[in-house]
Amino acid sequence: MNETPRRVVFEDGRVELPVERLRVEPAAGRRTGCPFHDVREMLREVGLRPTRQRLALGWLLFAKGDRHITAEMLHEEALRARFPVSLATVYNTLHQFTEVSLLREVAVDGSKTYFDTNSSEHHHFYVEGDSRLLDIPGAEVLVDKLPVTPEGYEIARIDVVVRLRRKSA
Ligand SMILES: [Zn+2]
Repeated sequence: MNETPRRVVFEDGRVELPVERLRVEPAAGRRTGCPFHDVREMLREVGLRPTRQRLALGWLLFAKGDRHITAEMLHEEALRARFPVSLATVYNTLHQFTEVSLLREVAVDGSKTYFDTNSSEHHHFYVEGDSRLLDIPGAEVLVDKLPVTPEGYEIARIDVVVRLRRKSA
């Protein structure tokens, strides 16, 4: 359930193409083509020790192209791949990856947090009822007016979530 779609066709015929590449930024220049080796390199680049858990979860996360995944979904994938790991470990690992910017956290509502393997600047459609996130390229959303930030703060990032629902016929 909740598999991130490989290819999305919008109602206006626009197609979101599958992204079947392994994201290994910022070590992209040193890719070897071997997912496990690449994840090891990626961890080294961000200063995380390549433990068995990080390697296995990193491989599950990044070897399938850009996607949005919850801790529960990744946990299920790990068990299906016969990698016994606790949900708590999955959570910790996802947060560690997020801290070093390998992942981006996308909080859709109070109960659901997605982790995005595409850590570049972009926004999201959220398909209500379907619990699906779709990418919107960063350049397709322009924020015209921003509020004045409270004293002593600056804007770190702007995440736009555009909620979608099916048109009633
Ligand atoms: Zn995304």
